[in-house]
Amino acid sequence: RFITFEGGEGVGKSTQVKRLLANLHRLSIEAMRTREPGGTPRAEAIRSFILQGRSESWGAGAEAVLFAAARLDHVTQLIEPNLQAGTWVICDRFHDSTRAYQGLTGGVDDKLIRGLETLALDGHTPDLTIILDMDPEAAFKRVALRAIEDGLVQTGDRFEKEDLNWHKRLREGFLEIARNNPDRCVVITAEQSADALETTIWDAVCQRFPE
Ligand code: C5P
Repeated sequence: RFITFEGGEGVGKSTQVKRLLANLHRLSIEAMRTREPGGTPRAEAIRSFILQGRSESWGAGAEAVLFAAARLDHVTQLIEPNLQAGTWVICDRFHDSTRAYQGLTGGVDDKLIRGLETLALDGHTPDLTIILDMDPEAAFKRVALRAIEDGLVQTGDRFEKEDLNWHKRLREGFLEIARNNPDRCVVITAEQSADALETTIWDAVCQRFPE
């Protein structure tokens, strides 16, 4: 089984990925978690390159190709072997992020996005995609709160730079992806406590994979 988590910034994906993994392990189900961009040493190198802003002048199209290069390595080196071994793979972001960020929000045309999906997924479309949805204003507050709690000052990262309208477009992008892929996508509101969200996600997973 291949499950991906998607959504904008500050919606609590990473926490829920960890909790889902723990819930699967409690049932003695072999499962692992990974993330994108990244997941393998080479893909993590591409992640650092992008997140350090070193590809910013390249434009969204070339960045989408970089994300796809990372994804191809991640799929062939880590995701595919684990799925083949019967291990459930839970991935924090996957190809829908490229479609939402670089495609629907960044303006990269659909033909390139589709081409990259064919290339990088190598047939491994997720069985279930959980889209955590939240009003960007609420997400902003959560990210700011987390930064204060962590003693971090949020300066210069992508989240701070982009404006609220950009995040609203991103949210719409993920919702559009969900509408276009009703077979695999489930939209869950992230505007609930972490515990309540964990239960909602667990119910969705059990419903999708009743065995
Ligand atoms: O989810 P996570 O915080 O690890 O994502 C790291 C950053 O990478 C996000 O803040 C997002 O802005 C960026 N990203 C992106 N395009 C993607 C995937 C992630 O711009 N396709």
